Amino acid sequence: HAKNQGRGRAEIYTDAMALAAEDKAELERDLLVGLQRDEFLLEFQPQIDIVSGGAVAAEALVRWAHPERNIVMPGAFVPVAEESGVIVALGDWVMDKVCQTAARWANAGISQRIAINISTRELGQPDFFLRLRHAIATHAAPPAMLELEISESLAMEMEPRILEQLGALRRDGVCVAIDDFGTGYSNLSRLKELPVDRVKIDRSLVRDIATSAEARTICSAVVGLVQGLGMEVVVEGVESEAQMDVLRVIGCTLFQGYHLARPTGEQAYLAQFGVQDRGQVRDAG
Ligand code: C2E
Ligand code: MG
Ligand code: MG
Ligand code: MG
Repeated sequence: HAKNQGRGRAEIYTDAMALAAEDKAELERDLLVGLQRDEFLLEFQPQIDIVSGGAVAAEALVRWAHPERNIVMPGAFVPVAEESGVIVALGDWVMDKVCQTAARWANAGISQRIAINISTRELGQPDFFLRLRHAIATHAAPPAMLELEISESLAMEMEPRILEQLGALRRDGVCVAIDDFGTGYSNLSRLKELPVDRVKIDRSLVRDIATSAEARTICSAVVGLVQGLGMEVVVEGVESEAQMDVLRVIGCTLFQGYHLARPTGEQAYLAQFGVQDRGQVRDAG
């Protein structure tokens, strides 16, 4: 077993189970060392607007390039990072990186948003918004190029203080999204009161829509509800043309999923989706 083989040889953890078998305290230490050694990186996955055909936003997804392992996916370390509190430092790194990237894209005339996943533990920090604003100011990132993804369950529990701060960020142009919608049990009357621009429909609601009439009915109802409340719908986890066909009929236009593009590094992302906005190019040429 990898854990018993010591640290000298290449350990290959490819899934959450392998990492879960590792001592949590050890993983926690490794995460902190990894942060010091700058072992994390971001990949970007586009949200495509099928009306314009272009990307409207890129979701930033963290990966851990541990020197002795394969690339470790967030499912294998984000839960431990949340439990231990390391997520606060990791989240700071992500915020800083995203703000830096957004400023660079803006200078290159690319104005699509970059979405950041925010976990419960992060949002609960009293100085979360201060640190986010610090990252924005440090890099002079345009607030309108940032989007915060907050999971459905977390969104339902937000205290007045957090709701106010989110509202203030939105007034500054930051976009707020509910992530993984349809996996929790939302208080629907509360949903319409949240300071939220868009809702990301979880892939579990999409998986069977090409083959099951029931799945189609549920997905269609959820999409109709969100749109009826005046929020934008983004559908996650779109893996096939058949699913796209159903979603188009339901009235969806914004898609994220392997069928459109997999998450990829910044350079590859920009090569494919980094279309410059006409008239806004400053640093080009
Ligand atoms: P999420 O925010 O719901 O992100 C979408 C996940 O679905 C990503 O997995 C993405 O690669 C995957 N995905 C995209 N399209 C498809 C598809 O068509 N089919 C399937 N099966 N999957 C698809 P990833 O990158 O492994 O991230 C997993 C989760 O880890 C994220 O779920 C998010 O909750 C968390 N996470 C990722 N990056 C961060 C981060 O920087 N901070 C925090 N706090 N959490 C993060
Ligand atoms: Mg997300
Ligand atoms: Mg999601
Ligand atoms: Mg999520």
